[in-house]
Amino acid sequence: MKRYKGISVSPGLVLGQVSLLKRENYLFIRGQHDPEKELLVLREAVRIAQNELESMAGRSAEGEKAIFTFQSMLLEDETFMGEVRSYIQSGTGAAEAMNRVGQRYADKLLAMTDNAYLQLRNVDILDVTQRVVNILAGRPRVLLTLDHPVILAADKLMPSDLFCIPAGMVLGIITSEGSTLSHAAIIARARRIPSIIQVGRDFLDDCDGRIVALDADDGSCILDPDADARQQIVSRICAGQRADEPAAETAVQDLPCVTRDGEPFELLANCFGPEDIASAVQMGAAGVGLLRSDYQILAGNTFDEQEQYYYYAACIAAAQGRPITVRTFDFGSDRTLSNVYRGDQSAHLGMRGIRSSLRQPRRFENQIRALLRAGAVGPLRIVFPMVTNVEDWDEAMNLVARCRANLEERGVAYNPDVPFGIMLSIPAACLTAEDFILDGCEFFVIGTNDLTQYTHAAGREVTSAERYFQPTSKAMYKLIRMTVDAAEAHGIPVGICGLACGDAANAVQYLHMGLRSFSMGPQNLLQVKKALLDADARPDREGPPQGVRTVRGGDG
Ligand code: PEP
Ligand code: MG
Repeated sequence: MKRYKGISVSPGLVLGQVSLLKRENYLFIRGQHDPEKELLVLREAVRIAQNELESMAGRSAEGEKAIFTFQSMLLEDETFMGEVRSYIQSGTGAAEAMNRVGQRYADKLLAMTDNAYLQLRNVDILDVTQRVVNILAGRPRVLLTLDHPVILAADKLMPSDLFCIPAGMVLGIITSEGSTLSHAAIIARARRIPSIIQVGRDFLDDCDGRIVALDADDGSCILDPDADARQQIVSRICAGQRADEPAAETAVQDLPCVTRDGEPFELLANCFGPEDIASAVQMGAAGVGLLRSDYQILAGNTFDEQEQYYYYAACIAAAQGRPITVRTFDFGSDRTLSNVYRGDQSAHLGMRGIRSSLRQPRRFENQIRALLRAGAVGPLRIVFPMVTNVEDWDEAMNLVARCRANLEERGVAYNPDVPFGIMLSIPAACLTAEDFILDGCEFFVIGTNDLTQYTHAAGREVTSAERYFQPTSKAMYKLIRMTVDAAEAHGIPVGICGLACGDAANAVQYLHMGLRSFSMGPQNLLQVKKALLDADARPDREGPPQGVRTVRGGDG
């Protein structure tokens, strides 16, 4: 009997036999090279791969479709496929060329340790690359044939792995590596498959065919559990079934959002695109409080107005009538691949957020026009990040006026009344909050991640400065109260988002600071809702909070 500790990505308990998913390393054989033929074969393999991806998208739940669409889009990406083709032209076989380029792109993303979202996309790149390589090599894409349900073990899981195995055959998942934010984790959570990651490579060496007690509530598992350990997990599974947890969760989801002392509140989700908006809706979000629009632009691809319009329209469709608040591009060194190398242009104290957008008016206009057009399809608000002063706001709104005039001239449908607001992430903006309202700002969103970082001069990725990173400190209290007071005085909405909101205790403190609208990672919605239902909104409205927490929070 041996116990392994990992990290839970999808809770639950299960006892079962392990089946190890083995990935073969393909040996690329070099022979006579005919670039024309290789290019032809590649084109055909890409076509087959795209058909397979389309069929998987057709079989998947709403929130999962976009994963396969993304993979299919990569096979149309000019930069990516151009590199594959140029390897072929210079003498490399199609399979090897595909493999090399895929691996290089995946490695680049994997190295982005300060950007979890882009980092997790590496798995998608490997997944789709492997699919094309398998097709080129005439190998099956189904990696496991199973005759009974198993606990799946692997180094890491690709989204399509879960689609190659019949539903119901996967009791649980254990991976030696992997990320909590990976698409496979999103799918596992959506399907309620108990799953843990990062148990270490030792586990894989010896697990195939053996029995495992998987405790994904605690993030651990026991290989070859003895009679006692088996008995314990079986009793807990039975007790869990009796408690009927999903019913209890649904019950909380269905309760109206009202605090113990009768104050209504609103729970929204921070999202990246259609795929996680759909799961946020399932988890009870009343809308999207923050759509990080910059994540549609992977590795420096700039989308034109039309492409962006489709993207925002897809987000609106995924929200099913709930409002979405889209943040305009917030490029910075912690964002996209191409920004990493831009120095002052993207440094924390440099030209990021609206500053960068204002310096690139054509790019900014494309985005605003796409958003105004999407605003005609469903409820949408636009928020500017990193606004420092009224000059930023005025310059941005002048550009918005030009975009409206352009759409008017072109006779394109758009919504002239889309509300515009600012994201308060710089203390200077909180201190002068009222000025923005007097100048036409229609709503505020407080961004706790950046506001905490700039208030305390503690970089959000700098672990050694973590004790200074205090999202509910007295200083934050004062800045937040100032902002809330200005909003209340002029009757404009104010919300709060960021990692800290996903922590139930912090959310309660923000409630006490006067906030009623909270946006967080979808997976934190239920916990935060429970805490707010149990809290009083007005106990210490008059004074700053007693304790100072440094908890960064959930997945916001
Ligand atoms: C924030 O700054 O609080 C925020 C939510 O934005 P991001 O994490 O994308 O900087
Ligand atoms: Mg921010």
